[in-house]
Amino acid sequence: MTLPAPLPVAQPATPSLVGLTRAELGEALRAIDTPDREIRMRTGQLWHWIYFQGAKDFGEMLNVSKTMRAKLEAAYTLARPEVTSEQVSNDGTRKWLIRMPPVDARDRGAEIECVYIPESDRGTLCVSSQVGCTLTCTFCHTGTQRLVRNLTSQEIVQQLVVARDQIGDFPGMTPPKDGLIPSGEGVRAVSNIVFMGMGEPLFNFDNVGNAIDVLSDGDGLSLSKRRITVSTSGVVPEIPALGARAGTMLAISLHAVRDDLRDTLVPLNKKYPIADLLDACRHYPGLSNARRITFEYVMLKGVNDSPAEARELVRLLKGLPAKINLIPFNPWPGTKYECSDWDVIERFSDIVFNAGYASPVRTPRGRDILAACGQLKSETEKVRARAVLMGE
Ligand code: SAH
Ligand code: SF4
Repeated sequence: MTLPAPLPVAQPATPSLVGLTRAELGEALRAIDTPDREIRMRTGQLWHWIYFQGAKDFGEMLNVSKTMRAKLEAAYTLARPEVTSEQVSNDGTRKWLIRMPPVDARDRGAEIECVYIPESDRGTLCVSSQVGCTLTCTFCHTGTQRLVRNLTSQEIVQQLVVARDQIGDFPGMTPPKDGLIPSGEGVRAVSNIVFMGMGEPLFNFDNVGNAIDVLSDGDGLSLSKRRITVSTSGVVPEIPALGARAGTMLAISLHAVRDDLRDTLVPLNKKYPIADLLDACRHYPGLSNARRITFEYVMLKGVNDSPAEARELVRLLKGLPAKINLIPFNPWPGTKYECSDWDVIERFSDIVFNAGYASPVRTPRGRDILAACGQLKSETEKVRARAVLMGE
C-alpha cells in the first residue's frame, strides 16, 4: 500500500523588510550582525529607500555599501504581497485583492481587499485591519465571514505600498493613463487613508497603532495624521487610547439612535451602549471644531431612516464637534436589507443639514465592482473550501 503524499505545509518565504517599523528594521539589521553603533544610521537609510523612494531592489540603495547590500540581499527581500486581482470601476475606483504570504508555518496566507477612491483633489485608500471581522453587524458583508485573524502592522502598511506601486505614486513612476488619478503640484495620488476596509481596527489596536506610526512618518510615507481616519463600531475603552496613542481622526459607525435598534444592527452596542459611546467621543483627545468626529449612518429602508430619527440624531450629537456621513446602504448577495429611497435620504439629510451639518450623503463609489463600504469579503474562505475539497 502506498502512503498518501504528506500534506504540503506553507513555509514563510525569505522575510520582506517592506512594512516594518523602525524598531523592527533595527532588529532585522541586528540579526545580520550590524554593529550597534550603525543601527540608527542604517535604519534611516533603509527607511528612506523603502518608504520615500519605494525601492524594489537593494541594488538601488546607492548610499549603502556594497557589502551591506549583499548581506541584506542574502537575508531579506523588498517583496510586496501579491496583487491577485485588480478591478477598475467605471468611476475610477480600484479594488485590489492582495494575498498575504503565510505569517508562520501553520498559516496558509490570507487574502484581503483594499480599495482606492480617486477624487479631483485627493485620493483615499480604504485599508483593512483584519481578515474578516469578529463582529457581526447585520448589514455588513465582512461580518458574515467566519475566518478571522488580525493583520500585522507590516501587512497594514504594505497595503499603502502596494497601492502606490499600482498607481505609480512613488518618485520616478508614471501613473496609469486612464486620467482618473489625481495629480498636480503637491497632490499625492494617495493623500488620505481610512480604516474602513475589513475588520474592527480597535480590536487590533497595537498593530494599527504601529502601522499609523509608519504611515505618518515624515521621512517616509508621510501621510498627515489629519488625513488618517480610524473607523470603529464603538469599542469604547480603546477610543481615548487611540487618541492618545495615534492622534488620528476618528469615525464612529453609529447607524441608530436608540439602543434597542443599535443592539440588532451593531451587536457590540449591547456591551457599549450609545450613551457610553458618545461619552467616550466627548473625551476624545484633540477634539475641536477643526478636528471633528465623523458619525457614519447607513441608510436602511424602513429601519433607521425616519425624520424622527434624523431629529434624534441631531439632538444626540448636540455640543459635540461632529460631522455626519449618511451612507446609502450597499447591498450584497443574500442581505435582508435595502437601501432607503432617494427622497427619504434627502429628507433625512435636509433635517441634518438644517441643524448645521454640511454635505452629509456619501456618494457610493465602485458599486459595479462591489468595492463599497461593507461589501468587502475576502476570497480566503472560498480558497480554503477549495483546498479542503482537493484534500490538502
Ligand atoms: N469595523 C469598522 C470599520 C470597517 S466598516 C466599523 O464598523 O466602523 C466601515 C464602514 O462601512 C462602517 O461605518 C460600516 O458600518 C459601514 N458599512 C458596513 N457595511 C455596509 C454596507 N453594506 N453598506 C454601507 N456601509 C456599510
Ligand atoms: Fe465588523 Fe465594521 Fe462590518 Fe461591523 S461594520 S461587522 S465592525 S467590519
